[in-house]
Amino acid sequence: MSAATHAAAPIVIAHRGASGYLPEHTLEAKALAHAMGADFLEQDLVLSKDNVPVVLHDIYIDTVTDVAARFPERQRDDGRYYALDFTVAELKQLRVTERINVKTGKAVFPGRFPAGKSSFQIPTLEEELEFIAGLNKSTGRTAGIYPEIKQPAWHRKQGRDISRVVLPILERHGYRTKADACWVQCFEYDEVKRIRAELGWKGRLVQLMGTKKGDDGTDFEYLRSTAGLAELAKVADGIGPALASVISGKSVADRKITTLVKDAHAHKLAVHPYTVRADELPKTVASLGELHRLLFIEAGVDGVFTDFPDRTAAFVQTGGKL
Ligand code: CA
Repeated sequence: MSAATHAAAPIVIAHRGASGYLPEHTLEAKALAHAMGADFLEQDLVLSKDNVPVVLHDIYIDTVTDVAARFPERQRDDGRYYALDFTVAELKQLRVTERINVKTGKAVFPGRFPAGKSSFQIPTLEEELEFIAGLNKSTGRTAGIYPEIKQPAWHRKQGRDISRVVLPILERHGYRTKADACWVQCFEYDEVKRIRAELGWKGRLVQLMGTKKGDDGTDFEYLRSTAGLAELAKVADGIGPALASVISGKSVADRKITTLVKDAHAHKLAVHPYTVRADELPKTVASLGELHRLLFIEAGVDGVFTDFPDRTAAFVQTGGKL
């Protein structure tokens, strides 16, 4: 049985770093997650104007930076600011903030790090890989990486091939095989297949799954079916479903553990659902502890994406006996 299956201890994946405590995808958020015992640190990746992968959740930069104040004339016709329209040198001039809603200007998670405070920058992928390798060396504790190729179909429409840029960088930094501490993830099924077949990626690969159809047409409902999982298992090592695909229902009273984890395990696919948030619990649970118990003990997931890696790691380390 490979290390990618459910036999291994569940992993704690720091979602955008320790994003419950520090602005997402800053090196500071990654350092905190590393210190909190996360097994893997997530990188969402988009390209800059000069074709450099940078660590950002969105193709837009107005949700997490002061770009509108610094480069007011650089928005597109839709009023949005895109990372792809800025060079790395320009992106480095921006101040990163806790995520804000561009329509209201208010923090998305008001209880978290105050928006607009202190000083944070957008890291490039290579800066972040060096940073994590440095922390692994200086602490003697290894955290892996969990890079996501963001919106490859959109990048292609802009004349860019993001996977072809990202994968060689991972390989150059020592992430090459399924034995290396790296999972590559993507929502777009065509790209997942392409990463494996055409681009020859030899490391671990996760198919992310939304609840609706993907922007590129990926049919998540089919991929969650027995036939879909069987097909997926030919190219991927795991799936990253939404929490609602593992714990269904509208309330605590009517919640159910779905068969998804069991079905995926039958095809030797690991299951890493997203996203555990102490300050935004699903309606199907009454507490964070209950969410952890349902995911790890009842459903038997192989890991989770969490904004609060300290609290998820504490649960995993004690087996829920807190
Ligand atoms: Ca992600």
